[in-house]
Amino acid sequence: MKDCLFCKISSGDIPSEKVFENDDVIGFKDIAPMAKEHYLFIAKKHSKNINEIDEKSLVQVYSAIKEFTQKNNLEQNGFRVVTNVNEHGGQTVFHTHFHVLGGEQLKRFGA
Ligand code: AMP
Ligand code: ZN
Repeated sequence: MKDCLFCKISSGDIPSEKVFENDDVIGFKDIAPMAKEHYLFIAKKHSKNINEIDEKSLVQVYSAIKEFTQKNNLEQNGFRVVTNVNEHGGQTVFHTHFHVLGGEQLKRFGA
């Protein structure tokens, strides 16, 4: 979608530090990490948020997250998957994305 930051990252028009890619999904490092490890996973196909993404893309993104976190053993130090919806829910980029936060000393949610 034109004028969407994450569509531009997905197409390569804007650079990113990719950590995962397949035909439908990319994972890349968050530019302003809030944990020792902080990645964003998106479907290449544009949608606005988790309520609007189609089921197929949702499964593709979650499967990619699972594949990535298993392959890189994020479970060892614990990790969290978060999606923000609407500006009131903390969303600032309106292309559905899932934050994967991991590494040591991950703060307890809400703490
Ligand atoms: P949210 O606030 O849930 O919409 O998350 C948007 C996230 O995108 C934030 O954590 C930003 O740090 C991150 N972000 C914004 N621009 C970029 C970029 N060019 N490359 C990587 N991450 C970005
Ligand atoms: Zn987009």
